[in-house]
Formats: sequence, structure tokens, C-alpha cells
Amino acid sequence: MKPKELCDKYYPLQKEVFERLGISFDIFSRTSKPIHYEVVREFYKKLWEKGYIYPKEIKQWWCPKDKMVLPDRFVKGTCPKCGAQDQYGDVCEVCGSWYESFEILDPRCTLCGGKPEIIRKIHFFLKLSALSPKVLEYVRDKKHWRKATYNKTISWLEKEGLRDKDITRDYEWGPPAPFPGSEGQVIYNWAENLLGYISATRDWAENVLNRPDAWRDFWMDHETKLYCFIGKDNLFFHTILFPALLIAHGEYILPYNVVVNEFVNLEGEKLSTSRGWVIWLHDLLAEYEPDIIRYYAVAIAPETRDTDFKWQDFADKINGELIGTLGNFIHRVLTFTYERMNGVIPDPGELDVRSREMLDTCCNIVEQLKQKIGSCEFRDGLKEILRLAQEGNKYLNEKSPWRNPEEAPRTIYVLIQVIHALAVIMSPYLPFTSQKILEYLNIDKSINELRWSDAEKTLLPGHRIKEPKPLFKKIDERDIREKIKKLEEIRKSFS
Ligand SMILES: [Zn+2]
Ligand SMILES: [Zn+2]
Repeated sequence: MKPKELCDKYYPLQKEVFERLGISFDIFSRTSKPIHYEVVREFYKKLWEKGYIYPKEIKQWWCPKDKMVLPDRFVKGTCPKCGAQDQYGDVCEVCGSWYESFEILDPRCTLCGGKPEIIRKIHFFLKLSALSPKVLEYVRDKKHWRKATYNKTISWLEKEGLRDKDITRDYEWGPPAPFPGSEGQVIYNWAENLLGYISATRDWAENVLNRPDAWRDFWMDHETKLYCFIGKDNLFFHTILFPALLIAHGEYILPYNVVVNEFVNLEGEKLSTSRGWVIWLHDLLAEYEPDIIRYYAVAIAPETRDTDFKWQDFADKINGELIGTLGNFIHRVLTFTYERMNGVIPDPGELDVRSREMLDTCCNIVEQLKQKIGSCEFRDGLKEILRLAQEGNKYLNEKSPWRNPEEAPRTIYVLIQVIHALAVIMSPYLPFTSQKILEYLNIDKSINELRWSDAEKTLLPGHRIKEPKPLFKKIDERDIREKIKKLEEIRKSFS
């Protein structure tokens, strides 16, 4: 398959899965667009003018059988640093080292399995060695990065420093290199993909906003905070190479935070599409509501270390936490209000100490969560949402409005405020559920219009709510056992 065909196939699939999961983009751009080529060529012309690019003869892998120059990912062999076998030509997935592809030991072509040969050609190099001290200076005060990201980046720069790297290739795919004598060569993919963030912003400014210059408000304004969200296999590109490129150019802001996730494994094994050791999002979406998937994805988010998708854990967390704690609490309060309070938010009269304490706790948790999201600790943030439901449940059980009818109006008034706050603060995590709760609360608003401060707004006595329905469907344990059984069979086939 040609690269373009492959991209054309996956682009709509990925776009659709994101949409079904409730993830919306200002723009879901592509690096095959003319605007991207334009941005890349402009960018590297500037680096050439500033003396950061120079030509040099290099060695490349050539497969005599396939008659082609082999890209790094088309060569596999033994890692020159740690000796791990079956690693790609540019990066070792075992020790995380990044190396030149001709350093790899026992190389073989991934297309035909044959032994590739080394050929020599003039290519263009980026003077990373000159940029290394500047990148180190930039990273040093990024103490707000995740610890592992910060430490890995610093130790890389301090121990090894950066070596100059070639940024051109003889492929058909990619933006043509803009240097004198670079005819027939393109900019190598890492060196152009990183600039996709800039070209996507320009694409958005031009084609969505109709204000072609608006991208400058982001990329050239020092008030901008640029966040990059990536997996750990992309750490080096985003904490070192991207800042190096931007520093070399000189007119752009640098990433404020590079939020790096570790890997999610499946039942204790690394994911592998070829072995079928994988869960496809479109399969999950066919079976479960998007918020259920989102909840579990955050609950096991590999923020500080590798984690595991485990089917039993999935069922336990969804049935226990999401439905047992959060869903039930909301449903109990709304049902009681609808059935026993005529569906109207009651007049609380004067609040007692315990009720005021409940509302204070609610405010505190809203503030805590705001900070957690601000510092990209999404998993801990989710725990705050759960904690608010737990606190609400505790208050509900203590007050037992079904046994204390005189106090019931006060209790329900307080709990409705808590549920309203929950609907607002859970919207980044569980957007579909948040929207449903707003509907039951009879608030005619899309969650996209919500602001964080709405969490502290009061719903006034006399406001009428709508008939609530249960928020989630429980996960059937029998389905889960079946899924585990299927995976065990796959495991047997490759172990
Ligand atoms: Zn290695
Ligand atoms: Zn070959």
C-alpha cells in the first residue's frame, strides 16, 4: 500500500472514533496538506539562512532485493546499547535509546528478511550539537513536568548531549527539502511531523476561523501555554527535538508542558495487533457507552508507570465505582426529588451545620479538581469526582430524607446543588453523562457552554426537574468471563 492510501484509510476511521468518544477537535488536520508543506519549507529555509543546516555524506541501508533505501522502521536488529533483539532501526523499545540506524547490530530488511547493504549519499544535517546547551537551559526550569519526563530529558542532555542529525531522505513521501542541492530529497518525517502542530494551527486559522493570521496569537505570543500530550515513545521528539527546532528558528514559543504517558498493556502483555493481543476502540464502542470507556481509560491512565487493561478490573471499576458510587448517588437523589418532592427543588429554610459543611466540601472538591486538571493529574482528578459522590452519599444516608420528612427539603436542596456541581465538573471526563444530568435537572444548556464557575452556581428553590432515568447500564459479568476466555486462547497460541 502507498503511504497516501494508508493515511486515507485511517484518517476517517480515527476521526470517527474520536467523535464517538466525545472528543472534539478545533481542527483534525493532516500533514499531507499543502499548508503543511508550505510551513515546513518556510521553516527550514529560515534554519538554513541562520546556519543551522549543512550538507554531509551519510550511510544508509539499501536492500538489494527490494531495490530501495530502507527507512529506519524498515530495518530491524539488535539494540547497540542494551542488546535487546528485534528492535527498530531508530529506537529501542526495551531501553528507550535512540540511535542511528546503521549502528544497529545484525540488521535485516523487514520487507524481505534479507541483509541490507550500506550506501553513501549527501544529506542535510541539523546542527543539534550547537543547540544542546540551549535546550538544556530551557528544560531546567520545567519542574512542573512529570518527574520521569523531566529526569529522562535532563539526563539525556547532560550525559549524552545532542549529536547533529540528518533531516533529509530520498523518499517520495514528504515535503521537498528547500536547500540548495537538495533536489529529489524530502524532509525526514520526524523533522516535519513536529511542525504539524504549527501547520494545523494555520490550517484552522485560515479554513475554520477565516482569519489567516490568527495562528500567530498562539505560536508567537509569550502568554501562550503550549501543552503537548504524547506517549513515552515520543518523549525524545517532544522534550528535546521540537524545542531545539523552535529555538533554532527563534520566532516561536516553546512547549510549556510535555505531558508524557507510559504504556497501557493488556492483561499483563504488551499490545500487539499482529498477534491479536489488542482491543479495538470501535469494538469497545459497539458494546459500551463512550463514558464507560472514558471512565476506565482515565482510571488506568499510565501517568507515572505502565498500567494494564484488565477485563475483570474494568467490570469492577465500572460496576463498583462509576455505577455503584457515582451513578447510584445521582439517581437516588434525582428520583427522590422527582417522586417525593413533586419534582421541584424545595425551599431549604435555614441550613444546619452539617448541611453547610456538605456545601463547603463540595466547593473544596471543585477547587481541588481544578488544580488537578491544571497540573495534568487527570487520574487524581477523577478520584476527586468520586470523592464528591461518596461525601454526598454519606450525607444522604446520615440525613435519610425518606425517614425524616421535616428535614427532607433541606437535605434535597443541598444534594441537588452537589449534583449540579458534579454535572459541571465531570463534563471533561464524562461529557455524555454530564449532558444527561443537565437534562434531568432541566437546565437547557450544552456542556460546551459550561464554564468552571458554573459549578458554584445555585439552583433556586421552585426550579422543576425532569423525570430521571438510570445513568448507566451495568456490565454483565458473563460477558467479561467470555472475553477473558477468548484472550486466554490467544495467549496460548503465542506462548
Ligand atoms: Zn536497547
Ligand atoms: Zn528487502
